[in-house]
Amino acid sequence: MAKPGPDTIRYGGNTSCVQVTSDAGTLLVIDCGTGAHGLGQHLMKEGPKPVRGHVLISHTHWDHIQGIPFFTPFFIPGNKWDFYAPKGFGESLRETLAGQMEYTYFPITPEAFGAELSYNNLSEGVFRIDDVVIRTRYLNHPALTIAFRIEVDGAVVIYACDHEPHSREAADGVGQLDGQDLAHAEFLRDADLVIHDAQYLA
Ligand SMILES: [Zn+2]
Repeated sequence: MAKPGPDTIRYGGNTSCVQVTSDAGTLLVIDCGTGAHGLGQHLMKEGPKPVRGHVLISHTHWDHIQGIPFFTPFFIPGNKWDFYAPKGFGESLRETLAGQMEYTYFPITPEAFGAELSYNNLSEGVFRIDDVVIRTRYLNHPALTIAFRIEVDGAVVIYACDHEPHSREAADGVGQLDGQDLAHAEFLRDADLVIHDAQYLA
């Protein structure tokens, strides 16, 4: 949960939201937690307008989508944003993301978004956004959760949040990795930057 205070001065007290911009200017926003509020304000100040961007959602737990209703660029006509998220169960991606903006929970509905928004379902594989190549892999976490391996400008950034080791040995850091833990390590291999959850101990 978002938590301001002395404990969170170094990394910030917001829930997950990471910006990646390529040299050519392709704008990716990975997860849309409460950090999206500050990012949205920054983008509005920075220009150029309109703001064109792509939002990669790892999964739809609260802490990864709570910033969506507070992300100013979604409200500005002329902006264009594409959502990419794992294909969930039952309802559409738009319905899942809009659920937190139902009348009971929030005073503004998604109809207030003035920007042009599109919704894309993800599974494991590889896809491209302009100059950026993105590989995806399922993580071990309740709710369908995806890691992103982002390759652009000769660099690799990996975002893998909320992942739990499959085996107790892997969590302890002893013994040989095998199976899904080995496959996970292979996915991370040779990255320049790995943004990874580290909260799960054995
Ligand atoms: Zn989660």
